[in-house]
Amino acid sequence: MALLLLIQSGCGASPVSGEKAASESSAARPVSDDARFDDTFLSMDTVMTISAFGPQGEEAVAKGRERIEGLNELLSTGSETSEVSKLNANGGGSLSADTNFLAGEALRLYEETEGAFDISIYPLMKLWGFDRLDELTEENAVIPTDEEIRETLRLVDAGSLSFDREKGELSYGIPGMAVDFGGITKGYASDSVIRLMRDMGVSSALLNLGGNVQALGKKPDGSLWKVGIQYPEPGSSKIAGVVSISDCAVITSGDYERMIPGTEYHHIIDPKTGWPVENGLRSVTVVAKDGTLADGLSTSLFVMGMEEALSFWREGTEDFEAVFLTEDQTLYVTEGLAESFTPSEGFEMKIIRKS
Ligand code: AMP
Ligand code: MG
Repeated sequence: MALLLLIQSGCGASPVSGEKAASESSAARPVSDDARFDDTFLSMDTVMTISAFGPQGEEAVAKGRERIEGLNELLSTGSETSEVSKLNANGGGSLSADTNFLAGEALRLYEETEGAFDISIYPLMKLWGFDRLDELTEENAVIPTDEEIRETLRLVDAGSLSFDREKGELSYGIPGMAVDFGGITKGYASDSVIRLMRDMGVSSALLNLGGNVQALGKKPDGSLWKVGIQYPEPGSSKIAGVVSISDCAVITSGDYERMIPGTEYHHIIDPKTGWPVENGLRSVTVVAKDGTLADGLSTSLFVMGMEEALSFWREGTEDFEAVFLTEDQTLYVTEGLAESFTPSEGFEMKIIRKS
């Protein structure tokens, strides 16, 4: 999901493969603190680049990739052997530590967002065809009928999931329910890799998981990372603005990524109506220390729409800042980012105050 482009970090521009970095570093000389190691690979249906600096960088990048690939195997709805697919086939079951954590976070967000974030959305994703997007064309794509949507909506109700965090068990209250952690998986993946790298002694790293960005520390020269927010057009590399960060996740949800061919219908669905969200927002970017939260909230706020999303931000239950890009090319930026966000030419910026 190429929602964000990294600029000035260079990793989007000329990625260095893991193999090359490994052979370079095998020479018997000390690795400097600003030596950089990168790997670019495909996982979770998107292109990812992970970069780490310093003597532990090479091993950290290899372990980071392994961790992401492990999570993909666990959480992919597209693979029959994943834990999620088995849960969906059996109406629940025992959870691994990762899935247990994610189920807890997802259900907490379900409560806090009053149902805007709902992992039991999967039957609707399938009805719309998002489980077989690579097979869809303008000719064969079919928009579901109101009747089909109404029928499928009966299965979408995270309140009917029974979750026991202590025992690590999930059970589905309605036959045919199915869950999909796609709205928080990448943020959890980046959070996990950042933690792993920090534990290894890495102090500077940057992850770009298909446009979902998370940074560890600052750049090796002590300056902030600059993360570009993509202008919402499929395949576009135009930047709507840039946010400067350290030790943060910057995660965007937009209406322009996964789309049903030949239509405007995209992959973020309102669990109350069963239709792809259409509320005047083009994208929502969440900036937070916690990657899982940033990812879950970017999806949630997009579903809520700007007015409700701003009330949620003002309530202050969760610690985050956000950038809302509307159809009329205005960027609404919460006040915590007032100093660190720069809009591109042609985009108007409005600061949203807490009170
Ligand atoms: P993101 O790009 O993080 O906003 O996540 C979009 C993905 O989240 C979709 O591909 C679905 O897998 C899932 N999803 C879509 N709508 C919702 C929703 N209302 N609540 C939770 N997950 C959703
Ligand atoms: Mg998300």
